[in-house]
This record gives sequence, C-alpha cells and structure tokens, in this order.
Amino acid sequence: MSAKMLSFVSVPQAQPPKRLADDRRKDFDEIYNEFSPEQAATQASRCSQCGVPFCSIHCPLGNNIPDWLMLAADGRLEEAYSVSQATNSFPEICGRICPQDRLCEGNCVIEKDFDSVTIGAVERYITDTAFENGWVKPVLPVVELESSVGVIGAGPAGLAAAERLRASGHQVHVYDRHDRVGGLLIYGIPGFKLEKDIVLRRQKVLEEQGVIFHLGKGIGAGEGEIAFEDLRKKHDAVLVATGVYKSREIGGPGSGLGGIVRALDYLTASNRRSLGDVLPEGELDAAGKDVVVIGGGDTAMDCVRTAIRQGAKSVKCLYRRDKANMPGSVREVKNAEEEGVEFVWLAAPESFLGDTTVTGVRAQKMRLGLPDGSGRQSIEAEPEGLFTVQADMVIKALGFDPEPLPEMWKADELKTSRWGTLQVDRVSFETSVPGVFAAGDIVRGASLVVWAIRDGRDAAAQIDQWIAARSSSLAAE
Ligand code: FAD
Ligand code: SF4
Ligand code: SF4
Repeated sequence: MSAKMLSFVSVPQAQPPKRLADDRRKDFDEIYNEFSPEQAATQASRCSQCGVPFCSIHCPLGNNIPDWLMLAADGRLEEAYSVSQATNSFPEICGRICPQDRLCEGNCVIEKDFDSVTIGAVERYITDTAFENGWVKPVLPVVELESSVGVIGAGPAGLAAAERLRASGHQVHVYDRHDRVGGLLIYGIPGFKLEKDIVLRRQKVLEEQGVIFHLGKGIGAGEGEIAFEDLRKKHDAVLVATGVYKSREIGGPGSGLGGIVRALDYLTASNRRSLGDVLPEGELDAAGKDVVVIGGGDTAMDCVRTAIRQGAKSVKCLYRRDKANMPGSVREVKNAEEEGVEFVWLAAPESFLGDTTVTGVRAQKMRLGLPDGSGRQSIEAEPEGLFTVQADMVIKALGFDPEPLPEMWKADELKTSRWGTLQVDRVSFETSVPGVFAAGDIVRGASLVVWAIRDGRDAAAQIDQWIAARSSSLAAE
C-alpha cells in the first residue's frame, strides 16, 4: 500500500470549493469547482484501503474505488482513469450527480467517526483530468461484425449499452425522438448540477467510436415516427431504453388554469435556452413571477433552483410532509435554501385560484400521523388549515410514470408490470418479445443515472451473447 494512504486521522474531509450562493444565482454553471491536483491527492489519501470496501459494495457499478483512490493519491492519474473507466462508462457524470450520501460515501467505513472519503469529487477529477490530457479514447472494436443493434433512447442506459455493444464490434444505431443526445442528462438535469458540455463531450467520443445517432426519430405510430415492427426488421436485436415520461398530474378545482406547468416541460425549456436555442420570449420562463413548485423530490429541487436563476420574484416549494420525510437529497435542499428558496412544509394543494391564469394556490396544512404498513408516517389534514399562497406560475413536480409503450407502438405482445414498466427477464434483460431487450428507467421506474448505466452495460453483455448464440445456431443449421 502506498505510504500516503490512511491519512483520514489527520486530514479533515473537504469537498471541492462551492461557489457562493449570490454568485450561483446568476448563472447555470455548476456550483462546485474542481479540486486542485494537491486537494484531490490529499483527499484520496484519506482512504483506509479496506479489505472489504463497503463503498464499492454500495456503488451500483461496483467501482473499484480503493484502487483508483490510491492511484490518485500517488498522482498516477492515467492509471486511476484506466481503473475507473473499466467499470463505469461515464465516471465524470456519476462523480457529479450520484447521490453519494446514499451510495458510496454514505457507506464509507470511516464515515462513523470521521467524515467519509470524498469519492464522487475524486472520481470526477480523475476523468476530467483524463479528458484534458487526451487519455479518453473511444474503445474501438477489434473485429467489425455484421450484426446490428437498434437502441431506442439516447439517455444514460441507451448510451452505456451503445458504448459496450460497439466495443464488441456490433453496428450500433441509437434512435431518439429528441434532437440531442443525453436523455434526461441533457434536457432534464439542469446545468448547475451537470454542465451541458460534459454531455456533449461524451457524445463526441461515442461518435468517434462509430455509434450512429438518428436524432429527431421517435419510435411509434405517429406521423414521421418509425414503426416498432420496422425497427425490429432492420436490426438483429433491439434495446428499449426510453425512460419514463408520463408526468403525474394534480387534480382539483382550477388545475387546468394557464400558468400551471409540468416540471419536465419547464426544465426542458430552460435547458434548451442554456444550449442556445431561441424560444418564444416568456414561454415557460419564471422571470419576475411568484413561483410555486409542488413536490419534494429531486425534480422539484431542480425546478426551484432553476426559477431562482431565471430571476423569479419569489420561489416557494410546497411539500405535504416535513423536511425529515422528504424524498429529495439533503444536499440539494441545503443548496436550494442557500440560494433563497422558501420551503412550505406540511402543505398540500387543495385548489388553484384565478380566472384564466393562476393567481394563487389554496393549500391545506397537513400533520404527520402514525406510521403506515411501510413504516412511513401517514399524513392527515389539520382542521381549519386552509391558506393561500400567491402564485403566477405553478410547477407540478410529482414524479413520472412510464408511457404506455405497447399501446403507442401497437405491440400488444410487449408485457408490462402493473406499474406500466416493461417486464424483462432479470438475467437476460429480454422482454416478452424475442430479440427485444430493455434497460434503465423503463424497467426500474424513475431511478438514478448510475443504475441506468449499470443496466445498459449489463443488457449490452446479454445482447452480445444472444447475437453470438443465434449466429452459431444459424451456422449449425
Ligand atoms: P432517459 O434519461 O429518460 O432517456 C430516455 C431517452 O429515450 C430520452 O432521450 C427520450 O427522448 C428517448 N425516448 C423516449 N421514448 C422514445 C421513443 N418512443 N422513440 C425514441 N426515443 C424515445 N438521477 C441521478 O442519478 N442524479 C440526479 O441528480 C438526477 N436528477 C434528475 C433530475 C430530473 C429533473 C429528473 C427528471 C431525473 C433525475 N435523475 C437523476 C434521474 C435520471 O435522470 C434517470 O434515472 C436516468 O436519466 C434514466 O436513464 P434512461 O436512459 O433510462 O432514460
Ligand atoms: Fe459513487 Fe456513483 Fe461513483 Fe459509484 S458511480 S463510486 S455511487 S459516485
Ligand atoms: Fe476507502 Fe471508505 Fe472505501 Fe474503505 S469504505 S475503501 S475507507 S473509500
């Protein structure tokens, strides 16, 4: 072991420098700066090189964390990158947006008496350095195969699968209904968490690898869309990685008023502006408005923080439970509070006020009751607890469900679960339709980028085996 390790007893934990809230509010740039080379090495050296690394066990990709931390502590960054990219298709993205407090860092053994090793920030530093030094090279296939795979969806699951399949020599075609690559990485997650250049940089590597993108090409039965059956005929295998996009809606009086918008429409418009697209002035823009965001998850946090940056007059987040019971990451809530978001805890919308456009939200004060069967505290309305919050823009951020793919694609043979997610064999990733595989949120339901990458990589390995087995059985006939 390097003499530099185990320094957690003397070196305190440090995250990369965070920009001041006043400065962050003015732009969509990331809020954390990069570690300096010395900081990265010193922070990596805090690792105690556990024999059984709980950090790796709790990383969905099983990253070999202690090894790349030791190499980073020694300044051997090219080798650190080589180890890091062996298990993770996009380490620089995970290092930025994984909820590390629930995954690797939350399970670091030194967390109990000292603060955990800053794994995510070091992972990001290693790959950003690799890009700067030209060490990130497309993995080119050793042999070109004739087989082709059609991947539906250019989000992290589809991209991770495409990268692996191409490395194995298959001809890989990725179809997306959007005009840009990245899925929620490009149009969902705001730049202050993940700058858009980071995603575009990856797209370039995939293109250099020979992955072919067909953008603005939706799969479906609508005008201009490619029929699912036609796509199946075109490719030896198909991977469905379409994510989940059906927004959960709010009912109640006034819920159809103007100015009440869906979170993803709002975030997509903001991300498009950041990417230089020109949208009609004022459309889905919070500038000068009293904004109310409904929901308590990470999407809600992204909306409130986007509204602050657009120059909203006020931004309030209404959540029906309290701070301790909200699903959003603690780190993101803290960032939002620092930036000036006001949280209205224990409040649920009852109706929306206004004639044609919303002017306010009538909200019901809630209180926490006894835990239900799942152990989560139930909620009930406080008697006489109605109050009004002024709003001229309301953003609904209540989560997402899968779109009804069998119906949209006229493919009744595609079996879904009772939640609408695609059913797959847990080992082979194959759906109920032979030669059609699925991965990412469309199988798991709304989840995390790191899980989408894991599923995409695993599904690619299974597709590769499936194509090889089919070719040998055809050759034997
Ligand atoms: P997606 O990223 O959704 O990609 C699916 C792609 O399929 C899209 O490009 C879509 O256009 C395309 N598609 C869909 N239907 C069709 C069709 N019929 N034809 C052609 N193309 C189609 N996770 C984290 O780990 N950290 C975070 O900080 C985080 N923040 C988030 C913030 C927001 C606002 C949201 C909504 C999610 C966030 N997530 C975060 C979750 C994460 O983004 C998803 O779990 C992940 O992107 C899922 O990857 P995917 O490839 O399965 O789907
Ligand atoms: Fe941690 Fe995510 Fe990196 Fe795994 S991929 S080590 S969970 S930041
Ligand atoms: Fe290092 Fe923490 Fe992982 Fe142990 S659990 S190997 S100390 S990062």
